[in-house]
Amino acid sequence: MAKNRSSSMQAKLVLVGDMGTGKTSIVLRFVKGQYFDCQESTIGAAFFSQILSLNEATIKFDIWDTAGQERYHSLAPMYYRGAAAAIVVYDISSTESFTRAKKWVEELQRQGNPCLVMALVANKADLEEKRKVFAEEGEQYAEENGLFFIETSAKTSQNVNELFYEIAKRVLKAR
Ligand code: GDP
Ligand code: MG
Repeated sequence: MAKNRSSSMQAKLVLVGDMGTGKTSIVLRFVKGQYFDCQESTIGAAFFSQILSLNEATIKFDIWDTAGQERYHSLAPMYYRGAAAAIVVYDISSTESFTRAKKWVEELQRQGNPCLVMALVANKADLEEKRKVFAEEGEQYAEENGLFFIETSAKTSQNVNELFYEIAKRVLKAR
């Protein structure tokens, strides 16, 4: 007979990455199933809550989105404090955003939580004709730095749920 191993936990998840890469759009797609072509970068609630159920557990994500502070290329320590997971976003049509994503990864690594689950997210995958960063580049960097890599589109919703489910799995495993 299968043992009942159901459990529930709460986890703080932060989004980082340059302005305009689609952080807010990814969260709104995941939490509300909505997408806006002209997402206003600096306005909007910076906090969302979402419950995910996996086979054996329920996880409640407290999702911290920025309210535009990333324009200064760094975030206050309290933004990261206690985070179980981080999503680092770049835009496949911007080489600069990929370069900056690596800096964000370094900043997160400096926060010093070795158990932090990190995802490198190549967003705007629907903009194939404007692609500047190949998937292989993101994949390779992620592999070298122990991150999980995925290409998403908040616009078409490609891989958005997959992203959060994979993070949930890894957070439960790292617990
Ligand atoms: P943030 O500054 O990182 O929070 O980025 P936003 O979510 O505000 O998005 C910036 C702009 O990119 C907005 O105009 C969005 O509509 C657009 N955007 C976000 N995600 C996607 C996507 O997956 N595909 C496309 N084509 N545009 C996107
Ligand atoms: Mg935003």
